[in-house]
Amino acid sequence: MASSVVVVGCGAIGATAAALLVRAGVGRLRVVDRDFVEPSNLQRQMLFDESDAREAVPKAVAAERKLRALNSGISTEGVIADLYPGNAAQLLSSFDLILDGTDNFETRLLINDFAVSAAKPWIYAAAVASYGLTMTIRPGSTACLACLLESESGKGLEETCDTVGVLGPIVNLIASLEVAEALKLLSGREAALHDRLVSCDVWSGRFQSIRVGRDPDCRACVHQDFSYLQGEAQPQVTLCGRDSVQIHERARALNLAVLRSRLSGTVGDLRSNDFLLRFRVAPYEMTVFADGRAVFKGTTDPAVARSLYARYIGS
Ligand SMILES: [Zn+2]
Repeated sequence: MASSVVVVGCGAIGATAAALLVRAGVGRLRVVDRDFVEPSNLQRQMLFDESDAREAVPKAVAAERKLRALNSGISTEGVIADLYPGNAAQLLSSFDLILDGTDNFETRLLINDFAVSAAKPWIYAAAVASYGLTMTIRPGSTACLACLLESESGKGLEETCDTVGVLGPIVNLIASLEVAEALKLLSGREAALHDRLVSCDVWSGRFQSIRVGRDPDCRACVHQDFSYLQGEAQPQVTLCGRDSVQIHERARALNLAVLRSRLSGTVGDLRSNDFLLRFRVAPYEMTVFADGRAVFKGTTDPAVARSLYARYIGS
């Protein structure tokens, strides 16, 4: 009850990790996610159901609702946001532990930079296809993610769930391993932490656990070079998924009701809820969030996304 955790990304791993933590009675939990629930998520994302997908509820909102119903005795908060260098400290700093529920290495390296710079523990977790891995990172004591990924032998998961898919059982297994380490850390049983990179493949049955040494020349935990946190690696437009582009217009908030009335009649399939607005301009589907972010489905070309943004949302 005295501990606090922030889960970054509430897809499959994040959703299961958050549910396990809430059921365990972690006193304060924040879930940060930038997306909304889609029907294809339901095969593995255990906190969401068909009505969340039908109504395109943001995952942070749906998660908060479900988590509160699981345990009303703790403080649970869902935040609709895309973690980036400018909001990392504000979203992460007041928690004892950060859990990885993200789906990309750019955000993980940003979390790693923040955690190492703030000497805060975090737990890396990833899964794709039938394979997944997890490692607890305690800055100064263990290897960090940059030690693992940026050294000569380092190698992450290059495929993504959008290109090859992912099985429900592996994400739930990885989330369980992640939370087991979290519970040791939060309850002060640090001696019980195994400090190993654990990887499993539920298809082949291969399970592996290796000790990862610190890289004596590590950019982050040795040289204190936090390039991801300083924002050099964060572009304004990012690819997300197989056929989508995201535009980050962070400087401004949008009035979704005004936008909706302006767009009605000129775009197809216009739908909205309190948090987002979605519409179709064939062959594209656009989803606009109140913080000015927009996701364009149907293209991987940033120029097309920028042009659509300017035309329909405003430049
Ligand atoms: Zn390192």
